[in-house]
Amino acid sequence: MAEHESLEFGKADFVLLDTISMPEFMANLKLRFEKSRIYSYIGEVVVSVNPYRSMNIYGRDTIEQYKGRELYERPPHLFAIADAAYKAMKRRSKDTCIVISGESGAGKTEASKYIMQYIAAITNPGQRAEVERVKNMLLKSNCVLEAFGNAKTNRNDNSSRFGKYMDINFDFKGDPIGGHINNYLLEKVSVVPSLTFVLLFVQLVLGGPESLLRSLHIQKDPKAYAYIQVGGQKKSSINDSADFKAVADAMKVIGFTQEEIQTVYKILAAILHLGNLKFGSDGDVTLIENSKLASVLGDLLSTRQENVEKALLYRTVATGRDVIDKQHTEQEASYGRDALAKAIYERLFCWIVGRINDIIEVKDFDVKVHGKNTVIGVLDIYGFEIFQNNSFEQFCINYCNEKLQQLFIQLVLQQEQEEYQREGIPWKHIDYFNNQVIVDLVEQQHKGIFAILDEACMNVGKVTDEMFLQGLNNKLAKHAHFSSRKVSTCESLEFDRDFRIRHYAGDVVYSVVSFIDKNKDTLFQDFKRLLYNSSNPVLKSMWPEGKLSITEVTKRPLTAATLFKNSMIALVENLACKEPYYVRCIKPNDLKSPLLFEEERCRHQVEYLGLLENVRVRRAGFAYRQTYQRFLQRYKMISTITWPNHELPSDQEAVKKLLQASGFEQDSAYGKTKVFIRTPRTLFALEDQRAQMV
Ligand code: ADP
Ligand code: MG
Repeated sequence: MAEHESLEFGKADFVLLDTISMPEFMANLKLRFEKSRIYSYIGEVVVSVNPYRSMNIYGRDTIEQYKGRELYERPPHLFAIADAAYKAMKRRSKDTCIVISGESGAGKTEASKYIMQYIAAITNPGQRAEVERVKNMLLKSNCVLEAFGNAKTNRNDNSSRFGKYMDINFDFKGDPIGGHINNYLLEKVSVVPSLTFVLLFVQLVLGGPESLLRSLHIQKDPKAYAYIQVGGQKKSSINDSADFKAVADAMKVIGFTQEEIQTVYKILAAILHLGNLKFGSDGDVTLIENSKLASVLGDLLSTRQENVEKALLYRTVATGRDVIDKQHTEQEASYGRDALAKAIYERLFCWIVGRINDIIEVKDFDVKVHGKNTVIGVLDIYGFEIFQNNSFEQFCINYCNEKLQQLFIQLVLQQEQEEYQREGIPWKHIDYFNNQVIVDLVEQQHKGIFAILDEACMNVGKVTDEMFLQGLNNKLAKHAHFSSRKVSTCESLEFDRDFRIRHYAGDVVYSVVSFIDKNKDTLFQDFKRLLYNSSNPVLKSMWPEGKLSITEVTKRPLTAATLFKNSMIALVENLACKEPYYVRCIKPNDLKSPLLFEEERCRHQVEYLGLLENVRVRRAGFAYRQTYQRFLQRYKMISTITWPNHELPSDQEAVKKLLQASGFEQDSAYGKTKVFIRTPRTLFALEDQRAQMV
């Protein structure tokens, strides 16, 4: 319990609710939001509600208040969690991580920024120049990643279209010496619709310097580009050029070469021009209507116009021993063009992450110099998604959240268990829903949904989404967490294109339409070869597999599902060996309003985030635990045994006597360093008694 807050702001820790029920939880969350208390705890988990207005709670003075304090000494705050993670890392040499989850627009990225800022503010008291340089690079790399990864969507003006995990490495003094970034780009499969919202393109077009734009053949008019959709309110061009400059400067500071930065602009421009390519036909021949653009593309991609045209209009196929050029239809050519644009953007993004990592990563040499090397990881990742129409992307996101929930269960329970062990208190079994069964349903070898999807994609000949659904029905009809209309008897058979998963957070119906397409790597080898053969070495290095000719391409590229699954398994393994801290973000409304708490909307999120379950797990043990010394500091005035000072041999004895005298003996347990209190009611009673004394 945060001890410096009065109850008029609601309960600072949900563990202290009188009863654990959804209505009580919601009432407390709402009350706190209305009283501008945007942060609360569930034990050591921070629950955050997006305030949608600037709050005066992140300044230097606030940082000072939290620095080095224990979690419960100050009102709930991100800084408290950041400090706890930092302290555990520094004092106990533990690798720690902070997992931030919530839906789009809930405040994850802002939270990760405040956490980084806090860590930057409390480290390097000696002002070592080298450490300052590292800190600056870490902050700047965030700026570049956001520029390339964020888009304006109708849910969030500045939405990260990727999950991001960032490790910060610390030396033995607890100062940052480097970092590493992993990105989980999900929209590989559907970038074109959302690519159109990537703010960076607008910044380039509206904010790039004249001479640069001229060299890129770009006009200063976003409307001229099919891939740009300038959403809602258009930003003023002053902002755009400032934003553009900030990103350009950040790339320079991080250490990108001039040639690399130029290539980045050329690639962005090439994507914009690609979007404007039009295909037509002349009799049997498919052609590019605005072939001048092909020449511009050749220029930007450092290759010949003919090569660009050929890659866009033909596909090299191997039939037996022969290799022939097969002409695309108009439709195939357009599909190929969009696939190429997506792929180029994705490669660019991954290349940028790779370059940043090359630069910020701690080298072996540094570790030798600095001695110990510990890590704080910060994960900013999309939460559970349930839309009107749920497709492959939602399926992946929700699988990711099942994985994280599984980790959460293991770690929270394990943490509790370890603390009881440390303190010498007998362990009591906790009953909870273990979602491993759903994780298996998705990822199990041979039998899982991803495996069934991959199998369907391997079939030769025409593979349809319906065939995939058939595969699911054949193999999973009896699974308790799977159903589809085909196999269920009670529902109409009219629509047979969806299946339902009973997730830990609720039921979600997914449409199988385009699962197959999104799962396959459909980029023609011709494109890969085109880019590999570019005379621009930076661009060439992004496409190593373009080296292979068509007859050498034997291995199928890994599917999107397999890549995603592998990256999630690696992520969870990485997190599992760290001490975790959690931030759960909630979006109070869809209007970006600072006043509106849409109850129904919030309740859904509380469900998806498994927060009630979280309170239960926490409460199944002890609601409250505190060191004897701090417990006495707060409550010693309620008994003459302890006020003003006790004469017992130890603080533990004193706390025991105090609780006995108050009649709470039954509800307490005494560990080696901490007192544990099982029910919140005891604590309220203590608080009441205290209030009467002061
Ligand atoms: P997410 O990363 O979860 O999609 P963001 O962190 O980008 O969401 O937050 C969306 C928007 O909400 C921000 O651009 C900002 O306007 C507002 N916001 C989020 N957190 C805060 C905060 N702590 N204080 C003020 N505004 C916030
Ligand atoms: Mg974000």
